[in-house]
Amino acid sequence: MMLTIENEHMAEFDVEDVSRIAREAAREQSTTLRIAGVVLGAGGSDYVEILVNLEGCRAEPCQFSLGVFRNASETALKDAVSEQLRRHLEQHPPVRKEKG
Ligand SMILES: [Zn+2]
Repeated sequence: MMLTIENEHMAEFDVEDVSRIAREAAREQSTTLRIAGVVLGAGGSDYVEILVNLEGCRAEPCQFSLGVFRNASETALKDAVSEQLRRHLEQHPPVRKEKG
């Protein structure tokens, strides 16, 4: 067991925190973004992967993952998620329902 982490000075978010922050970031970007899951890195790493579904993407089902570090402030973590979500949305613009 490696339980020698000091949480005094460094926010280290758990899966629930990261999910909540990612959902907030996603909601601000687009209503078509869904946080599908959060996976902690192996070996006590601070790296976290966030699985995201983009509804209405022309490549549906569209799932992609973001990588962030959870030993950051909530603002920094949210910014990192937002930036990567934005980048994906640029590459995968939602399909508009058009006739013809
Ligand atoms: Zn897509």
